[in-house]
Parts: sequence; C-alpha cells; structure tokens
Amino acid sequence: MKVTVLSGGVGGARFLRGLVDVVDPAELTVIGNVGDDVEILGLHVSPDLDSILYALAGLSDEERGWGRACESWDALESAVAFGGAGWFRLGDRDIGLHLVRTKLLRGGTPLSAVTAQLVERAGLALTLLPATDDELRTWLDTAAGSFPFQEWFVARGHRDEVDVVRYVGADTAAPSPGAVEALREADLILIAPSNPYVSIGPILAVANLEAALRSSTAPVVAVSPLIGGRAVKGPADRMLARLAGGTSPAHVASCYAGLIDALVLDEADAHDVENLAVRPVVTKTLMSDADARRRLAEAVLAA
Ligand code: GDP
Ligand code: CA
Repeated sequence: MKVTVLSGGVGGARFLRGLVDVVDPAELTVIGNVGDDVEILGLHVSPDLDSILYALAGLSDEERGWGRACESWDALESAVAFGGAGWFRLGDRDIGLHLVRTKLLRGGTPLSAVTAQLVERAGLALTLLPATDDELRTWLDTAAGSFPFQEWFVARGHRDEVDVVRYVGADTAAPSPGAVEALREADLILIAPSNPYVSIGPILAVANLEAALRSSTAPVVAVSPLIGGRAVKGPADRMLARLAGGTSPAHVASCYAGLIDALVLDEADAHDVENLAVRPVVTKTLMSDADARRRLAEAVLAA
C-alpha cells in the first residue's frame, strides 16, 4: 500500500516514527515543509526535513525535542565569540549536515536531490521530498511587524499574536519532482499532526500540490495536533483560536476544508464533534513513547 504523508517537523516526525512500524518505508513518501528554511551563518538549514531525517534515523535528541542527540555546541560558541549570530542554535553534528547541504545547493543540486542523498546516507528507505525546490518562505504579520518564520518563532519566541500567515514565493513555486505523482498514485494520503498554518499550510500553498490532493481518489486523513483543545507544544492552539475562531476538531478540520475525508482526534476532544464536517476517528493521540506512536499509526490506517 502506497502512503503519502504531508509533514512538518517535530510533530510530524513523531508521527512518522510510528508509521514506519506499520507501513513498509519503501512504500512511504513524505512531502515536507520548507517554509521555515533559513540561512544561518551562511548555511542552508531545513529544520523540518532534518527533524524527520534525524527522528527516523534514530539520531534525534528526544529530551530536548529538536536537533541531534549527543550534540555539542563548540562551533556555534566560537562563531558567537567572533561576532556571529547565536540566536538560532546549531549543534556541531547538525552543522555537519548543513555544510553538506549548503555545498551541494551552491553547486546547483536541487534541494530534493540533496535531501535524497542525505536520506540514503542515513540508511533510510522512505522517500522524503521537500514540497518544492524553489524558495518558499513563511512570513507572519503581527502587530509588532512582519517576520520571517524563524525570527518570529525562535528569536521572538512566537510571542506575537499572528494576524496573517503568508507563504512568500508559493505563487511561482513548482512541486519538487515526484511530489504530484506521490499524491496521485497514493492509496492513502495522511496529514501529520503538524501545525496547520506554519507546517502544512506552506506545503498546500504550492498550487499544484493542493490541486493534486484535491483530485486524488485516495482517502485523505488528517491527525489533529491538538489534545483537549491545546497544542502539545508550540503555538498551534493560539493560532487556531485567533485565525480559525476556536480549537475544536471542527476548527482544525476547517484548515483542510474540502481536502480531507476524516480527522483523527483525541479522546479528550470527542465530546466536541457536532460541527465536524468530516468523519471523526477518536483515539489516543499523545505520542509519548514507541507503543503510543505505533498505536496511533495503527488507528490511522484502520480509519
Ligand atoms: P514543527 O515543524 O517542529 O513545529 O513541528 P510540526 O508542525 O510537525 O508539529 C507541531 C505540532 O505537533 C504541535 O502543534 C503539537 O501540538 C503537535 N504534537 C506534538 N506532539 C504531539 C503528540 O504526541 N500528539 C499530537 N496529537 N500532536 C502532537
Ligand atoms: Ca517547522
């Protein structure tokens, strides 16, 4: 069974770890967000693609929740000592990957081919595609000004309430090679429990990707990133309250209106499904350990 997943970083990666327990990775294609890619100290960083890669390769730091395990920070400390910017934390091991990516990109290799090389070197069998090889960046308009994603999220700690989310470059961005086919030929399409606005939104903003999703005959199932109306981590609940008008399953589903057939939601939200226009699938969605991740993946496939 061919499965194609739209995914952001940490929440998506957690979900994918469970999914590869129950789906043959060779049949799995992940279309990842590049809206929060950023250039740091001259290096091209793709945080969401890397969260997926590190998690599936068993390289991620589970306690910290991002980046690599057994990390050290000497390069960044030295950079800061010499006047470089230190607001975006890059560990030594992480930097190794960014050096390779940046070198290949500067040589003209597209991001999708770079990512394929990294995935292969990590020993992974899945297909990981950036949504686009073109430059697509998420910007947040707030009362304090407009910020590129990482400035809002990391430098300002996502404290500014968001009025508008913009996907700069999306109008002219082309889907990366294979992405449209992966949606067209999938037997099942999943939307990971990622932030709808800043993780899934930038993927769907690539016009031909949303069209391919709309015209696919495969069932499309989204997993809610909220439990009891609250984000497990990050600003998804605040963004939904402000931009969708609430944090119920119906509000989550409204982000994917016309796109999904079912929404997987937590037991804690099961009381709140009256206005939900798609089929609810109620289960435990907290991915606290390997068992919980696997059970969620099984429930999603059974849906
Ligand atoms: P990012 O790109 O690193 O911000 O990660 P994503 O957008 O992929 O995921 C962030 C979302 O994952 C947040 O809105 C969290 O609420 C959600 N999330 C994290 N862990 C869990 C979990 O165990 N269960 C569910 N349902 N959502 C989760
Ligand atoms: Ca992200």
